[in-house]
Amino acid sequence: MYLWDTHMHCNYSGDSEAEPMDMIHTAMDKGLSGIIFTDHLDLDYREEPGLFDLDLPLYTEEMNLIAAGINNYSGFHVGVGLELGLQPHLAQRHHKILEEYSFDQVIGSTHVVEGVDPYYDRFYEGRNAQETYSLYFQEVLANIKAFDDFDTLGHLDYVSRYGMRHYGREQGACRYEDHAPLLDEILTWLISHDKALEVNTGSFRGDESATDPNPSYPILQRYYELGGRRITLGADAHTPEHIGLCFTSVVDRLKAIGFDEITYYLKRTPYTYKI
Ligand SMILES: [Zn+2]
Ligand SMILES: [Zn+2]
Repeated sequence: MYLWDTHMHCNYSGDSEAEPMDMIHTAMDKGLSGIIFTDHLDLDYREEPGLFDLDLPLYTEEMNLIAAGINNYSGFHVGVGLELGLQPHLAQRHHKILEEYSFDQVIGSTHVVEGVDPYYDRFYEGRNAQETYSLYFQEVLANIKAFDDFDTLGHLDYVSRYGMRHYGREQGACRYEDHAPLLDEILTWLISHDKALEVNTGSFRGDESATDPNPSYPILQRYYELGGRRITLGADAHTPEHIGLCFTSVVDRLKAIGFDEITYYLKRTPYTYKI
């Protein structure tokens, strides 16, 4: 595979125990061309305070050493990035961090809305799916308007990954049409700011009935119709086995929509390869 997996976690993230070298060797065995580690930094994660703090000095130093060792001696490339958990009030702190530390690729993700991660059931209490998803997309929009120093927008409909679990697949389906104005505003903003939209295959992890990555194909289709061409691809693996998950079938669908290249970032500069 000539593909890059540009979203993955190792044991620097609060929810992964994977050894970086195990991730690297597995990615090589799977025939990928390169990977980018994007460990979690979610400041002010009130659900479990400190869980997604990242030891930035240690992470950047150690991971860059590991990457340099690989990048100097093989055709395979390892990048060191960050998955930044956006919240509007954190914008200034995030700017400071990115001034102080350099990364290859920064994913901007919305993991927390009104202090709660949609991963937790209590996020859905007292709200129907429509209201929940609308609230989530409003927060994504508020986040990107407050802070635009990221390269690619992570798993845009992340909320549906857990919403479907809560409401059931039918009730919890997140349809583009139900949120068209809001989603169009987000997609248009990405295009006009030359940001990428991430295609995240983590939705297929442990879910045999999953049909779409995050965001879903109708949202990706709409992005393309609006003129969006920049996409990044990542499996959001927290263990080696999930690296490159479902990439072949997802890339076929992306080509059917019309996409003909995929972007990855090194030193915050976009590079593309043809699909
Ligand atoms: Zn995420
Ligand atoms: Zn992630």
